[in-house]
Amino acid sequence: MYNPKSLIAEEFISDEEIRDTLDYAERNKNNIELIEQILEKASPKKTGRGVECSGLSHREASVLLACEIPEMVEKMYSLASEIKQAFYGNRIVMFAPLYLSNYCVNQCVYCPYHYQNREIPRKKLTQEEIIAEVTALQDMGHKRLAIEAGEDPVNNPIEYILECINTIYSIKHKNGAIRRVNVNIAGTTVENYRKLKKAGIGTYILFQETYHKESYERLHPAGPKHNYAYHTEAMDRAMQGGIDDVGLGVLFGLDMYKYEFAGLLMHAEHLEAVHGVGPHTISVPRVKRASDIDPNVFDNSIDDDIFAKIIACIRIAVPYTGMIISTRENENCRNKVLGLGISQISGGSRTSVGGYAGYSNEERPHDTEQFDVSDQRSLDEVVKWLIDMDYIPSFCTACYREGRTGDRFMSLCKVGQIQNCCHPNALMTLQEYLEDYASQETKAVGEPLISREINKVTNPKVKAKTFENLIAIRNGNRDFRF
Ligand code: SAM
Repeated sequence: MYNPKSLIAEEFISDEEIRDTLDYAERNKNNIELIEQILEKASPKKTGRGVECSGLSHREASVLLACEIPEMVEKMYSLASEIKQAFYGNRIVMFAPLYLSNYCVNQCVYCPYHYQNREIPRKKLTQEEIIAEVTALQDMGHKRLAIEAGEDPVNNPIEYILECINTIYSIKHKNGAIRRVNVNIAGTTVENYRKLKKAGIGTYILFQETYHKESYERLHPAGPKHNYAYHTEAMDRAMQGGIDDVGLGVLFGLDMYKYEFAGLLMHAEHLEAVHGVGPHTISVPRVKRASDIDPNVFDNSIDDDIFAKIIACIRIAVPYTGMIISTRENENCRNKVLGLGISQISGGSRTSVGGYAGYSNEERPHDTEQFDVSDQRSLDEVVKWLIDMDYIPSFCTACYREGRTGDRFMSLCKVGQIQNCCHPNALMTLQEYLEDYASQETKAVGEPLISREINKVTNPKVKAKTFENLIAIRNGNRDFRF
């Protein structure tokens, strides 16, 4: 029985409800009147409090995803861009993954870290190695990391993860600092989530991989991750443990994308219904080639057009949720989806354990890589590329550090207020990047961008303070925020 408020996985991700939804979407995919109504419902509306968007239910959004009428798809794309502009402006938040350990006791059939893989050396960073990795990441200009580890209670217990977080936050190298550590580790207990919260993590990220229970069990044949309910209910435990920013995701390619899309939105509706706050972010990874993994054996792979449509439909359905795309995608694909709703991207990423320290941008270790990186440009190249397209690469971590997380973030974001601080914060952190890490070419395009963009700050007090802070940053001061 479908019940978004239930805490039982198979009730809030009901297979029957997903099938009914897909059936409804298929029957209505050419119903132009209904599609127009849905697009109208989702479009931004001006209210006394600012701009608001209603979002869509999983059923309504599934009708959009099923629709193949070119003019309607074009309308979806322009609505997605409009919504993105309304809540995220032209800012793109930057981050990098940091792989701590590839020890893993699971057997995920798409992941090279599965424990039967003898092709890859197993490696776990020592605290000294973490210092070296984080120093290298700081020297690139990163301020926000996503830490990644396989699941192994002996080699990577929660104490190890906590120690690593502590080390990462403690490293202050030149003007560098990691100001937000997001965590992507296997589902765990409420008690462990409490410890992660206490350690000061940003978002807890856990990809569902697939919402289809049977496929899930087949794709995770052994190990703790085999348990569909435990994995699917992890975000509820995280929220019980006090983590109010959680990040969902599906690994596209494993099962039918329309099924995954409906499941993903039902998961978001469930979090909102039970905890009063939806997911902070949604990630959209696609299966990639890796050590002993051939992506072609997964026959549900999606092409770039469908991928773009999924991103646009997610943007329309959950307008206040950040959307993340990693370097699994190449430059062209990233370019296309940036305008459709992506708000966060990684840059200069290495997916191997110990992939940053001691390697130049041209050399990259492949032996412990989790997957092939398609976008192999340096962070500086990605930053310049964004600026050339009139995006503001943002290294901001202010919301989380000012306690604007969970429903506090959402309620500000929902009335467009978050932009009053996000825009100047993005400019100030970009200025820091230009001063400390940028190449001459990037600096040459970044400075004029900041001068142009500061005029978009409408509040005169905030604008004057931003000017003042930008000068202070040029004079060597750091870490200003609204
Ligand atoms: N071990 C943790 C867990 O089980 O959730 C998370 C860490 S894992 C390093 C991060 C994510 O990488 C996984 O959730 C999965 O979606 C993704 N991944 C695994 N193998 C992949 C592949 N071959 N291509 C692309 N993404 C992959």
